[in-house]
Amino acid sequence: MKATGVSALLRQDLLEAEEYVPIVPLEVLSEQVGIPMERLIKLDGNENPYGCSPRVNRALQAFAWLHIYPDPGHSELRRRLASYVGLDAGHIIAGNGSDELIDLVLRLVLAPGDGVVNCVPTFGMYSFNTAICGGRVIEVPRTADFAIDARAVKQAIDARSKLIFVASPNNPTANLTPRETIIELLDTGLIVFVDEAYYEFAGGATVADLVPHYDNLIVARTFSKWAGLAGLRVGYGIVPKPIVKHLWKIKPPYNVNAAAQVAAVEALADLEFRDRTVKAILAERDNLMAGLTALDFLQPCPTDANFIFCYVRRGSARAIKEELDKQGIFIRYFDKPLLRNALRISVGKPEHTAALLDALTKIGRELE
Ligand SMILES: *Cc1c(COP(=O)(O)O)cnc(C)c1O
Repeated sequence: MKATGVSALLRQDLLEAEEYVPIVPLEVLSEQVGIPMERLIKLDGNENPYGCSPRVNRALQAFAWLHIYPDPGHSELRRRLASYVGLDAGHIIAGNGSDELIDLVLRLVLAPGDGVVNCVPTFGMYSFNTAICGGRVIEVPRTADFAIDARAVKQAIDARSKLIFVASPNNPTANLTPRETIIELLDTGLIVFVDEAYYEFAGGATVADLVPHYDNLIVARTFSKWAGLAGLRVGYGIVPKPIVKHLWKIKPPYNVNAAAQVAAVEALADLEFRDRTVKAILAERDNLMAGLTALDFLQPCPTDANFIFCYVRRGSARAIKEELDKQGIFIRYFDKPLLRNALRISVGKPEHTAALLDALTKIGRELE
């Protein structure tokens, strides 16, 4: 169809692009179900149920420089991250969430029609941003247990392929990709973008240490999950030097705002909070896993992250999600070709697990 009027001036490839479906804000959900916000149980965003470190709140309250533009080089944050990651600060660049890193890297790499390998099912932003950058998504399905099929990736890449996305642990399936697989992908010579958003929950598994040895490996991480700062938007890339210097050229100068920089620095200064909440979340993950396993209509999969992916064996994932919605318990459901009839449940506090399992048990009885 030929665009007319003002639409003819817009990028024609974007007119046909699919709309991104964003999350529903908490206050809207609260209104929809008629339950006050504080009583909602939010297990759909993989956020930290314990919030952020109280030190972050205090630092934000005391911060007196909101009227001044933030440091475009976020140097204090990069210094702290360098020691957190164990590499020199020259490898580090922060973004407005790791979502911005995904976008910046694709903008640096892609010319229209260039290929990006997406190991599906996986995080939606990879294909979304590739399309916006005019790239071509090459979908390579994971195996039945959600492992990346490195041989299939190698067969799928062509002369115009530039980059391979690997979320590890993967969202929504919660499994890690073994280091050997990532090395196999690196050996293709394409840029391998390893998204370690759930690194802090994955028992130390990382490939960040390989960045100085592979100039085609980018690792991204975020403060949105472990640090309880999803609302402030801070993520960072661990990037080979020949790539990072070009990212600096295209990065919007004030991409990480002043409050976000203060908060992220303070979060890194309070690793005791990280250790305590990650430990609580991992303990609760075991409880949730045991509870879900005991429900015969559900089949949870192993997890290396702060959420559990779960097949629905009897009944419909969507109906379960909608019933839980009414009770003010929010989870994610999937029902599409590679993710048939499944749920993704974030690990919350013990009382959240109790309420969820109680509700699911009742739903299970109705299914009989
Ligand atoms: C949650 C998540 C992110 C985090 O994105 P931010 O923009 O940093 O909030 C990135 N990648 C994956 C796979 C995620 O699940």
